[in-house]
Amino acid sequence: MHYFEEEEVRKLLDIGQLIAAMRRVMVDFSEGKWNQPLRGVLAQGGGFFGVMPASGSSMGIKMVTYYPENAGTGLPTHMAVIALSDPKTGEPLALMDGRYITEMRTAAVSAVATDALASRDAKVLALLGAGVQGRAHLETLTRVRQFEEIRIWNRSPERAERFAKEHGVKATALEAAVRDADVVVTATSAHEPILKGEWLKPGAHVNAVGSSRPNWRELDDVAMANVVVVDSYEGARKEAGDVILAGIEPYAELGELLNGTKRVDPGATTIFKSLGMAVEDVAAAKLVYEAAR
Ligand code: NDP
Repeated sequence: MHYFEEEEVRKLLDIGQLIAAMRRVMVDFSEGKWNQPLRGVLAQGGGFFGVMPASGSSMGIKMVTYYPENAGTGLPTHMAVIALSDPKTGEPLALMDGRYITEMRTAAVSAVATDALASRDAKVLALLGAGVQGRAHLETLTRVRQFEEIRIWNRSPERAERFAKEHGVKATALEAAVRDADVVVTATSAHEPILKGEWLKPGAHVNAVGSSRPNWRELDDVAMANVVVVDSYEGARKEAGDVILAGIEPYAELGELLNGTKRVDPGATTIFKSLGMAVEDVAAAKLVYEAAR
């Protein structure tokens, strides 16, 4: 069986196709066409080891580690391996590195959410967090909206400055990044809210990507009082500190908006609370496998 190293995955994964595949998979997931248990997460050595299986039009499992303290050591904070099998016969098909898939499928799903929920003429993008996800969201969100101004904020300002220089965007203070922004991305390993709802422009859209633990938050109660859309109700109710600690009930799954089961008023301020799901990883791994054949 072939093992796809990250370099090969990068060459084979087309980002336009990935965004389209994530749109399909979110709809199919909300229509009950996938089996996906809540991921298992073991806390280990200052990090987390997650086990994420799913079966539907493809079948597989991602083993993912999240070690926030790897930051600055040369090792990534998120690493993963994905095993893909044939859902009709059970035959193992491929093993592949899952780090880049984790990076890009997350940002691709946010692009789908942004396309569904942000104003058509959104002009200002604010990225909070200059890590792997900040970079990936810059790549995917600019495919779904024509931004005229892109702002980056990061906890350590030097990293924001570096990011700004590298990508030709503007490094700003936190509140200044969010004020008047049409689309905001929170992509940090913060445990306490960094985004205050009072800063949000009415009608803004937020992709809330970090805080994947029940006791961690990136958004305050005011932000979470807006229309909250999630990738999965089950995940949000059990894993998302932003949802649990604000004591709110999500309005919809992203797939329910995409298939028209639920709708959001065009002027509403919206929050897409993303946790990431195995169906995304397995569908992305299938794209890589098929591109190689
Ligand atoms: P990186 O390790 O590449 O970057 C982490 C970022 O978080 C850096 O900008 C870092 O700033 C910042 N940060 C760390 N601690 C704090 C803090 N206490 N307050 C404010 N900022 C902080 O991680 P990724 O970009 O890969 O991931 C970002 C977040 O997204 C994580 O929470 C991760 O778990 C989550 N994620 C979610 C996925 C999903 O499907 N929803 C998938 C993958 C990741 P500094 O430079 O100052 O250290």
